[in-house]
Amino acid sequence: MKIENNDILKKYLAYNKSVKVTVVNATNMVQKARDMHLLSNVVTAALGRLIIVTIMMSSDLKEKDDRLTVQISGDGKIQKMVACGNKDLNIKAYALNNDVNLPLNENNKLDVAKAVGKGILTVIKDIGLKEPYVGKCNLITSEIAEDFAYYFYTSEQTPSVVSLGVNIGKDQKVQMAAGYIIQPLPDCDESIIDILETINNNISSVTNLMLDLSNIDDVAKTITGDNDIVLTETKNINYVCDCNEKRIENVIIALGKDEAIKAANDNDGILELTCHFCNKVYRFNINDIEKIFNDEVK
Ligand SMILES: [Zn+2]
Repeated sequence: MKIENNDILKKYLAYNKSVKVTVVNATNMVQKARDMHLLSNVVTAALGRLIIVTIMMSSDLKEKDDRLTVQISGDGKIQKMVACGNKDLNIKAYALNNDVNLPLNENNKLDVAKAVGKGILTVIKDIGLKEPYVGKCNLITSEIAEDFAYYFYTSEQTPSVVSLGVNIGKDQKVQMAAGYIIQPLPDCDESIIDILETINNNISSVTNLMLDLSNIDDVAKTITGDNDIVLTETKNINYVCDCNEKRIENVIIALGKDEAIKAANDNDGILELTCHFCNKVYRFNINDIEKIFNDEVK
C-alpha cells in the first residue's frame, strides 16, 4: 500500500488580518525521524513535538541562508534534543538518548515531561548578522508546547497559543503528528484574544482534531472560530540533512590535531565521525587528518 504524504504547512490570517495562524501536518516526517533514529514511543512524541514547532518557527525565516536551531536540554533520560530548520522547511533533528522507555503518565499519555525533565529551552536564529540571536528560557512543564508558548511570551513578547501532538497507533506507526501556533498581531482587539483563549482552552488535542476534520483549512477555522480565515501560504516540508565532508572537517579542526590523531590510532588508524542528524558515517585516516590541518594552516 502506498502511504500518502500529507505533510504540509499552511499559514493564515484571521479576524481581519489581526491574527496569524500556522498549522502543520508532519506525520510522515516524524515517522521518518522515528525510523531513522530508532526512537522509542516517548522519544518519538518528544522529538516529534520539537520537530513540529521547529517547522512552524522556520516558516517565519525570511532569507535563503537563514537558519533556526532549537535545543532542549533537561535532566530527564533524553538529556538533549536538537532540531534545525531553514526557510525552505528542510528540517533535521536528533535526540541524545533515543531509547527511553517510561510508564504512561496519569492521563494515560506518553510521559514526555518526565522523559525531558527540568531544563532549558534555547532558540538560535542565524539570520546573517554578525552574531546569531540566542534566546533562552526555563522549561515550564517540559511537555514542549507550553514551554514554547512561554518562550514566545518572555523572549519575543508575543502571546501565543501553541499546540503540538504526536499520536502513535496500535501498529506502532505515527498515526498523526501535527501542531498549530496562533499569534495575535499588535493591532488585535482584546475581545478577539478572549475568544481565542476560550476556544483553545476547550481543545484537548490537536492530533484528534486533525484526525476528526482531516482538512487543515477546517482545523484553522475551528481553532480560531473565524470562518473567513484567509490562506496566505502553503509549503511542503522535508526531512533533509545538509551534512557534508567540509562540515565534518570543521568538527575535526575543533577537536584539535593531537586529539583527532589519537582517536584514529585508538580505532585502527581510522577516525570515524557520525552525523547526529542522519547517521551518515564519515571516515578519515591519518593522512586525511594531516591534510585537513595542513590545509587549515595555509
Ligand atoms: Zn547528516
